[in-house]
Amino acid sequence: MARVDGIIEGRFSFNSRDGRFRRLFREALQRPPQGVERITTVRSVSLSRRPTKTMVGLTRYSRVRYFLVLSRPQQTITFYSYLLSALSDPAAVAVMAHELAHAWLNEHEKPEESRQREREADALAREWGFGPELEALDREAETV
Ligand SMILES: [Zn+2]
Repeated sequence: MARVDGIIEGRFSFNSRDGRFRRLFREALQRPPQGVERITTVRSVSLSRRPTKTMVGLTRYSRVRYFLVLSRPQQTITFYSYLLSALSDPAAVAVMAHELAHAWLNEHEKPEESRQREREADALAREWGFGPELEALDREAETV
């Protein structure tokens, strides 16, 4: 994906040709306020077609070794088209904001299993201005 100004800084692979997904993700990237520290460890964002009834988005944090004792963090964000395609545009944007908030928290707070941080991620996405989208998501789905 070409560089876009947004919450993710630097290059990352963007594995989807889905026009709606690309448009909505670009919107989610650009919405957080300018003063917010960027996320620099996201290396890949993809839309998976694997059927799942339980997951709509997942952010993974890991450390990649590049010498014996050195490692650097990297993150991947995966969305699942099966559930994402059933959501309205605002609710889908809320899912994206929520995953971006996980990535931000992993990088700027402490890396922990994302699942333990659901409320924190929602609160941060709300701070970034995604309140109406999160409410749409609440009406349409039980969990992210
Ligand atoms: Zn979550």
